[in-house]
Amino acid sequence: MSEQPARIEEPTFCEVHPSRETSLRCNKCGRLMCADCAVLTPVGYRCRECVRQHEDRFFNASQYDYAIVFAACAALSGVAGAIISAIGFLFLVIIAAFPVGGAVSEAALRLTQRRRGRYSGQIAAAGVVIGGIVGGVARVYLSYAGVAADLARRAPGRDIPALPLDTALTTALSDIGLLVFVGIVAFTVYGRFRMRI
Ligand SMILES: [Zn+2]
Ligand SMILES: [Zn+2]
Repeated sequence: MSEQPARIEEPTFCEVHPSRETSLRCNKCGRLMCADCAVLTPVGYRCRECVRQHEDRFFNASQYDYAIVFAACAALSGVAGAIISAIGFLFLVIIAAFPVGGAVSEAALRLTQRRRGRYSGQIAAAGVVIGGIVGGVARVYLSYAGVAADLARRAPGRDIPALPLDTALTTALSDIGLLVFVGIVAFTVYGRFRMRI
């Protein structure tokens, strides 16, 4: 009766770093990789090559998608910014900013069938900032129009000057609540667009 020799596992090494012993394999292509070469993704450990390939496939936004993302973020942030600057209650503003950021990014993602590109995060954040400031300026003009109408009623025939744009902009930008709101929304939207999967 001959004894079967115990099978001894051959040591295996990282394909990029041949001196590092490892038994970890990429769950996509199966190549051996050390801890430095492995990337933890939501679907398990993968090699850098597979992650890069995945990203290239994943970044499928066109210039047109970028334009839609910018427009959607600017429009929604504009409306939200106008409302927020009218409320002007900082605590409420901070609480509202995160869900608004989530809603804005979700809307922009749906409008582009969830296509994203390398710059989607930056473009979305820029849209939020510009839209939010425009919304704040619009709100300043609206309140000025209200005051002007009131004044015209009380003192008919009086000449009421138009509000200069730089004054409106300065007023909007001195609204800490609006700035904090726009900052949080931009940050949330950026993070949402940068998520890998
Ligand atoms: Zn791989
Ligand atoms: Zn390695």
